[in-house]
This record gives sequence, C-alpha cells and structure tokens, in this order.
Amino acid sequence: MQKTLIVANWKSNKTIFEGLSWIEEFAQNYKENFEKEIVLCPSFTLIYPIKQAIEERNLQIKLGAQDISFLSDGPYTGEVNSKQIKEVADYVIIGHSERRKNLKETDEVLFEKVRKAIEASLTPIFCVQNENTEIPSEDVVIAYEPPESISTSGPGAEEEDPEEVLRIARMFKSKKPNSIFLYGASVDYSNVSTFTKLEGVSGVLVGGKSLSAQDFLQIYENA
Ligand code: PGA
Repeated sequence: MQKTLIVANWKSNKTIFEGLSWIEEFAQNYKENFEKEIVLCPSFTLIYPIKQAIEERNLQIKLGAQDISFLSDGPYTGEVNSKQIKEVADYVIIGHSERRKNLKETDEVLFEKVRKAIEASLTPIFCVQNENTEIPSEDVVIAYEPPESISTSGPGAEEEDPEEVLRIARMFKSKKPNSIFLYGASVDYSNVSTFTKLEGVSGVLVGGKSLSAQDFLQIYENA
C-alpha cells in the first residue's frame, strides 16, 4: 500500500544547530505511524548531520535534497551531483517554483535533473505549478504547488480549493497513472486532512509549517 507521504521543505532556513534542535524536539513527541512516511528536505549542509541524528535515534524519517545538479561529477564548481546526494538522501525536490523563478530553471534542465536523479536511484519529487506544467516522461512523484497559494507568496495566500486539487490530481493521474500525486501550498494542521483524504492525493509537501517540529508533528498526526 502507498504510504501517505509528508514532505517537509525547509527551503533556505536553519543552521546545523537549529536543524538538530528540531530533530531533538521532534523525537521527544513522535509516535510512529506505519501508514505515513516523512521525507525531510533540509539544505545540503544540514543533510549529513541530520542523517546521523536520525540514525542515532532510530527515527523513521527519510531525507531529501532540495535540488540536484543536471551535470554529472566533474569540473562543475558549486554543483552537487546525484551520486553525492544519494550518499545521504533518497529523494530530491526538482522544479520548485522558487527555483524556476529565481534561478530561471527551464523544462530542459529540470528533465535532465530528473534523469540524473533516477540514474542514481533517487526519487524525484517534481513540482508542477498548474495543469499546463510539462512533466518528465519518467515516473516521478508529482507535487502540485500553485505559486500564488504558497504561504510566503504574499498577503492573503491561502490553500488551494480542494475541488481544484482533485481536478488537477485526476488530470495528472490520467496522463501518468503510476505517478504519486502530492499537494503542497499553505498546508497546516487544520487543512492537511482535507487534501490527504482526496482520492488520488497521496500526501503533502509542507514549507512554512515544517519549520517548527511541533507544527510539523501536528500535520503528521492529522494527515
Ligand atoms: P508553504 O510552502 O507550505 O509555506 O506554502 C510550500 C512549498 O513552497 O513547498
């Protein structure tokens, strides 16, 4: 059975110390639910220390990166390649709207990132912004994140209408029946189950409300 995926996207937040404090607080209150899977996506510099902390405490948390190089290993200053990520993580977020906008990432580059991820046995979580977003031909986890609903997108940003999420989920599922579909934008403890109970929606991607361990645990419980 497909577990409900609850992905935490910390974005460019937290130092190592702050990340480890989050794990500490999380571990104190976490009650494992075998029907749900947590994927924590911190910045690159935090992944390894967090991995160690998770292993020491035997927590059922998977790790993901927030980006991956579209290039292989080699003379590419500043890039972090798929083999390097696979040493510390199992998932990678690709195509987030913040990167498409700020880093001008194109479909071509994003599809190459997906290929690199899959070659290295990483699971891509591919973000789509609307029903017209191009998706790669490979099977990926699709995360629907309408940019205007992301909590930090501006005043009044609020979660997408569940009916619309259902419609978009059906649309992508008809194109890629084997894909796992997630919703993410302004998810919190009070609205998470509205999305996870929708047919075809297998989980959520959480930004702002994943930064506090308590908030995230409530989302995990209610999902
Ligand atoms: P949000 O962010 O939960 O803060 O809206 C989601 C995301 O951008 O991944």
